[in-house]
Amino acid sequence: EEYPMFTSIDPATGAPGQSYAELTGAEIEIKLQRAHDTFREWRLTDLATRTALLERIAEQFDANTQRLAETATREMGKTLKSAIAEVQKCAQAFRHYAQEGAAMLEPRSFPGATATWHPMGPVLAVMPWNFPYWQVVRFMAPTILAGNVGLLKHASSVQGCGAALEEMVIAAGGPAGLFQNLAIKSDKVDALIADDRIVAVTLTGSEGAGMKVAEAAGRALKKVVLELGGSDPFIVMPSADLDAAAKAAVTARVQNTGQSCICAKRMIVHADVYDAFFEKFSAGMQAVVAGDPMDAASDMGPLSSEEQRATVLGQLKLFEQAGAKLLFGGEALPGKGAYMSAGILVDVPTDHEVANEELFGPIAMLFKAADIDEAIGIANAVPFGLGSSVWTQDADERARFERDIEAGMIAVNKMLASAPEAPFGGVKRSGHGRELGPYGLHEFMNLKTVLG
Ligand code: NAP
Repeated sequence: EEYPMFTSIDPATGAPGQSYAELTGAEIEIKLQRAHDTFREWRLTDLATRTALLERIAEQFDANTQRLAETATREMGKTLKSAIAEVQKCAQAFRHYAQEGAAMLEPRSFPGATATWHPMGPVLAVMPWNFPYWQVVRFMAPTILAGNVGLLKHASSVQGCGAALEEMVIAAGGPAGLFQNLAIKSDKVDALIADDRIVAVTLTGSEGAGMKVAEAAGRALKKVVLELGGSDPFIVMPSADLDAAAKAAVTARVQNTGQSCICAKRMIVHADVYDAFFEKFSAGMQAVVAGDPMDAASDMGPLSSEEQRATVLGQLKLFEQAGAKLLFGGEALPGKGAYMSAGILVDVPTDHEVANEELFGPIAMLFKAADIDEAIGIANAVPFGLGSSVWTQDADERARFERDIEAGMIAVNKMLASAPEAPFGGVKRSGHGRELGPYGLHEFMNLKTVLG
């Protein structure tokens, strides 16, 4: 029998990495049944057992930081320094739920009733490659605390990261069925969602994958959490600290080579400060160094694959056909590797469908707004509603942004970033449900009301 394999290609060199065999149907069945059986025991464990395991998993992430980070860099091209920071953030998330989790699960009393939190069962997670540990840990840490068990279908390109995540749980002394990595392609996902042993599904990824998974969950009447794309606005008003804003705008756009759902993708600048901001921002974007992700001097590595680079280059063509102008950058770098230069697009027509494209690469769209109404109008003119960042010292403007920007998250005078304790998620076509903090924990729990 021939086993199909996953082989990740190092996007920095084009060289093939380690191969992983795709699971056979019989192997998937064994893992599903193991998840089911493990849940029957894990649901009965006390909180102290779960939080102690979370602490030990955090220790495993600490002890293996370098190796885990190198695997991520080789599989999807992020800089090693950012991969190390990602692994450290994962350890923090496990510790956060270990230390604060018990308080999140306190019963709530109502007149004549008490509401108590209970696990639901095995949850399937379909995850993307862009933060190959952090995206999964946001699901994994609360799953373990809740008394649920997890099954991971990771992106095809980061199977080494998926295997390493399971390994951390086992090394920390977790039961074998608590968190299993399924080396499968996406064509196996529908059948898993339909299986009675799976109770719910969470997906982080593109709109297209989100719709497919939500459709399958709907057919099976199962709960689904969706963390989908974003085209976050970054709004700069006249009272803003322009140096700080321009610096943050560059970082927010090129982090992870522009491949983050909460990258600031559309810079919307008040006309009074447009020229001054533009000077600083374009200088910053031009200075971004794309290079070997293992080299500490690189600001960004390659895109995650040759295909991802081709996608972004294709999108840039569409923008230009629609009348937008690429001022500089946005070019494939010659030689090996999926490298691309950082760039700026102007004159993007907001009433053209191209403006709805999520640019998953280091290219900023820059807009000029006459006033706050126009700025909010441009911000809200896309189907996404994930994050946002606004720069103003004016209390009234801040209140307007908080009230009127259609987004799940807003950062004021800072770059938006996720944190273990802060609820994370979007509105509109960026998905529904929340991860992290108490809300992420509660998504896949049964709030059982006890009367009397
Ligand atoms: P993707 O192509 O949607 O892949 C995400 C995951 O879904 C992968 O595991 C993929 O498997 C799987 N998948 C794809 N099609 C599927 C289908 N029809 N049925 C079931 N599973 C399917 O997204 P990506 O390119 O990896 O990630 C980039 C996208 O994720 C961007 O849109 C980004 O904004 C979004 N994202 C959102 C958040 C958030 O929190 N909101 C965070 C990070 C990224 P294969 O790899 O095997 O195809």
